[in-house]
Formats: sequence, structure tokens, C-alpha cells
Amino acid sequence: DRLSPRLHSDPRCPLVDVASASNFRFFQLQHFHLDLRLNFAVKEMSGWLVLDLVPVHPAVCTLVLDSHPSLLIHSIDCKVPEDRRDEPVSLTYRLDPFTEYGSSLSISLPPDAVKPGRLIQITVRYTTTDGPAIWWLDSELTCGQSRPLVFTQGHSVCNRSFFPCFDTRFSRLRPIRSRVWAEPCLLPCAVKKLGGSVERWLGVAEDLFGPYLWGRCDIVFLPPSFPIVAMENPCLTFIIASILESSEFLLIDVIHEIAHGWFGNAVTNATWEEMWLKYCRVLLITTEYYRVLLITTEYCRVLSKLIITAGLQ
Ligand SMILES: [Zn+2]
Repeated sequence: DRLSPRLHSDPRCPLVDVASASNFRFFQLQHFHLDLRLNFAVKEMSGWLVLDLVPVHPAVCTLVLDSHPSLLIHSIDCKVPEDRRDEPVSLTYRLDPFTEYGSSLSISLPPDAVKPGRLIQITVRYTTTDGPAIWWLDSELTCGQSRPLVFTQGHSVCNRSFFPCFDTRFSRLRPIRSRVWAEPCLLPCAVKKLGGSVERWLGVAEDLFGPYLWGRCDIVFLPPSFPIVAMENPCLTFIIASILESSEFLLIDVIHEIAHGWFGNAVTNATWEEMWLKYCRVLLITTEYYRVLLITTEYCRVLSKLIITAGLQ
């Protein structure tokens, strides 16, 4: 996906994110590729990530990423795509403590490769262990109780224990609408309760707040051991499966998460410090959204009654 770094590279906005050790302001992140193999037996993910970066500062000689003691880094190398003859150059790196929720990974960049405006590709090979972002569930903890399950929950500062990154907020735009995901034993219920509704609720929200920016609005239901009720990840919202037991809570929660598509994901807090603003705003607008939805639903019910009464069905 293309990530637009406008917010953080704007010199008029000298932003400090106290929750990130990374030097994200010195680079434009153009593309991020993650390729992991999951090993359920030992609860580890192994693989690599590739960051396509364009340095924006002439004096930059180090790339600092947010990382976590639970990540085992195996190797880091650098390629300059413009220079086709070159094999990847192996880079040296250092891990330092940062806060209780992460560490900083300082990578020395090859001075001859780094030029402002020239693309470099950094590949990090690593293995995850027991970081706070990754939740491995044994089969007994799932609804179907037949297969293990894994999900990641990176909000707000845990993604760095999933992959080394600029663990800070970026503005981004992506082109898509809605599909429902769940364990096989939950899927019929989830589809019955939500089938077609998300699209309709999205339409009501668009009438109120303007076009939906994220294209896709998928929902995945997670087993009852999911630690929170819901998480509004752009394009794919996580919701705890037990909410399917109440149609009313399901409606309230899904429209709350849809509303985050505008307030929280599109218009967002600049740093984690200001997160309370996002929640105040979304609470206010969800109330109005819910009111309009109820009016629409009531209107449809009255209309369908009239049609049936008139024998026009
Ligand atoms: Zn919320």
C-alpha cells in the first residue's frame, strides 16, 4: 500500500511523538512489505519485512525504528533499486532500551547509498516471540474449539512487537466495501446478523459525514478471549464474537466502529498523547448517526407495513 507521509514530513509541523523512538521525520515511507510464516507449534512468526524508504534529509546516516525486546533480529540489509548491479549490502545495527513498551533499533546506513530523494530498500529478517501485539490462542480458547487461532492487536504502541517500524501515526488513503470474517462455527450467525447491513450503515454514514475514504469496511469476529470489545483498524475492524448475542449491541458497536472511519482513522490524533480527543469526537457523532439510523429503520418498517397493508408486496 502507498503510505502518504505528508503529515510528518511537513516542515511547518515539527511534530514530536514521545511514544516513538524512530526518526520517521527523516524518511518518506513509500511501501511496506511483510512476509511471515506462522508456526503454531512454537507460537512464533518468522520472515522478513521490506521498507521502501526515501530519505528526505541530506545528513541522515542512521535509520531508527521502533522495536521490542521480544523480536529476534537475524539480519538487516540494504538495496538501492536504481543501482541494478548491486547485491544487497549487509548493515550493522544496535538495539537500545527505550521505554517499558519498546526498544529502539538503530541501523547504520551505507553513506554512499543514501541520497535525499533516492529510494533505498531495507530488508529486516526476524522472528517474533511473546510480544504484547500477538495473541496465540489454543483451540480451547476459540468458539469452535478445533483449531488454534492467532490475531494481532497493535493499537496503540504494540505494533513494534509485531514488526520493527515507525510506530507512529501517518495519514493514508486507500482505494474499496464490506465482508464478514469469523471462525467457521460463527460464520452463519455473523452473516445472518450483519449480511447487507454494513453497506447500508456505511451509506447512512456517508450521507452524514462525506465519502468513506478506506474503500473496504470488513469485519472480523474474534473469539471471546479478544481482550477488548472492538478495534477499528482501517479496512478491517476487529469485534469480539460474544457481541453477536445482542442485535442491539451489535448495531451500536458496528456503527461506532464505522464512525471511526471518519473520526479516528481519517481525522486523527497527531500523537498518542491526544487520543482522548478521538474518543470524545466519535462518541458525539455516533449519537447523531444512531439517531438517523433509527429514523431510517423506523421509516422502512412503517413503509413496508403500508405496502403489505395495501396488498402491493
Ligand atoms: Zn471507539
